[in-house]
Order: sequence, then C-alpha cells, then structure tokens
Amino acid sequence: MSVQSSSARASESSATPRESKAFKVWISGRLYEKEDAKISVYDHGLLYGDGVFEGLRSYGGKVFRLEQHLTRLWNSAKAILLEIPLSREQVARAINETLAANGLQDGYIRLIVTRGSGSLGLDPNRTSNPQVIIITDYIAVYPEELYRQGLEIVTAGTMRNHPAALNPRIKSLNYLNNILAKIECLQAGCMEALMLNHKGEVSECTADNIFLVRDGVLLTPPVDAGVLEGITRDAVIELARKSGLEVREQTLTRHDVYIADECFLTGTAVEVIAVVKVDSRRIGPGTPGPITCDLKERFHKLTRS
Ligand code: PMP
Repeated sequence: MSVQSSSARASESSATPRESKAFKVWISGRLYEKEDAKISVYDHGLLYGDGVFEGLRSYGGKVFRLEQHLTRLWNSAKAILLEIPLSREQVARAINETLAANGLQDGYIRLIVTRGSGSLGLDPNRTSNPQVIIITDYIAVYPEELYRQGLEIVTAGTMRNHPAALNPRIKSLNYLNNILAKIECLQAGCMEALMLNHKGEVSECTADNIFLVRDGVLLTPPVDAGVLEGITRDAVIELARKSGLEVREQTLTRHDVYIADECFLTGTAVEVIAVVKVDSRRIGPGTPGPITCDLKERFHKLTRS
C-alpha cells in the first residue's frame, strides 16, 4: 500500500534525507554493520509490538536530557512489566559508544527494548532474551523553509488511545494508533495530525506535543488528557516559565485551537515548529507568532549550549 498525498503540500514538505550512511547498530552488547543488524522473527516486539522505545538526540556529541529519556524508558517498561536486562549506566554507555563508533556529533538515536523471542502466543512469560537495540542516524524531519513558514495540520478522525486501554504515557512499540492518524493527514496533504482523546479534547499530534498561545499565556493539554510526557514539552515549559511567561496545563478543545493567537508543536525530532493552519483555518495571522519564535530560539540555544 502506498500512502500518498493527493495534494502537493505534503510531498513538497517531505524532508530530503541527508545522504544515508551505513551506520553501525548496537544490539544487546555488540555493534553490527547495518546489513547484519538483525533480531529473531519470533521476537514479540515484531509479533505484537510488545516492547518500548525512546527517540533521543545528540547535539555536539552530548545526548540531550539523557537521564529524562532513560527514566521515561524505564517507566514505560515498568508499565508493561518488561524488565530491561541492562542498567541505566550500561544503556547510557552503549548509546555513547554507538554515537562514537558512527562518528555522530549531531544525530538521532532510536533506543528500543523488545520483549524478546518466544512462542507464537501472546504470553510474555514464554519469551526470553529481551533485546536492547540502538540505531543512530542523521535527522531531518522537515525542510528549513517549513520552520520559517509554519506547518499546516488537520484533525484526525482516529482518536488517541484511551488511557485505560493503552496509556499514551507508555512509549510502546505499538504505534498503530499514531500511524492511522498519520495516514489520514498524509491523505489530506499534511505532515502532522491533531489527535483528540475519547472525550473529544485535544491530546497531541502523532509524534509531537501541542501548545497554544492565547492572550500571552502558554497553554498545553495536561498529561491526563492522554499524551506522552514529552521531554521537549517539559523543556519548553521550563524555558517559558523562566522567560516570565505564564504556562497552564489545561483541558483544550478544538475551539481553543481555532481561536488561538499562536500554535506550535514540540518533539525530539522536530524541536519546536510553528503551526499556522489547522483544518484549513488560519491560526492567528497565519504566520509563526512571536512567542513561538522566541521559544524556538530559546530551545535552540538550550540544546546547542
Ligand atoms: N507525542 C508522541 C506520541 C511522540 O511520539 C513524541 C515523540 N517522542 C512526542 C509526543 C514528543 O516527545 P519528545 O519531546 O520526548 O520527543
């Protein structure tokens, strides 16, 4: 199946990946050449999406907020009763080792823990050898011009996972909920989708948290609206408060989005990016707002400092 946009918007905004390099992949204690990096087809990570992951980023050779990412990984694993077979220190060392082996100063890191291989049944007790995998690469989610112009997004009909079914706080290997919304936005000619929770409230986007600015106040949905506790979200909240801005984590509806002065998304991969249109409606004047630009700049400085 090919999920392609009928409109030019999404294809125009597809990032041009940097020349791909055969980066080495770390699997459970060893570095492998890319083509030799393999795990069992019986791994429940593959069979059932049974596992957890993190997306991290390194700037100038230093991993941004490594401790927070490890805490979130360990919390995700705890929530699905998956015991990570390494210590936090061992995982941290392995990440740095992989970055160094690949000569990456500024890169993206995908850290994965699978349930391990087992029988074809669901029972996690019948699995063994959880795999810890570290993949590193360059990152380029959107072209620079989209950071200047701002993104256009649409609301997906697919609702965000109900927290009582699969809590979005768990960063699990099962991202089908997000992928279904991503398919919708791609088919509508956009690169990101706004997802609502089971109450119809704003939760987050398929791979980013969402913020609004109204009357000089920064607003974002609370974690119990069914969102991932984004590391970038936390950093931006801190930066905003430090700059004297009032920040409120409060229930938001699409109405709030439509009448916002500014809107932006945050995520490890995208950092901070303005949203200028939602569901074909202009947000504010339809250009990235001053508070968005200021926070984008502050985040840039924080990560490169
Ligand atoms: N929500 C979802 C569903 C995500 O996948 C991500 C990306 N990890 C985010 C939000 C942003 O989180 P972070 O800032 O930690 O990358």
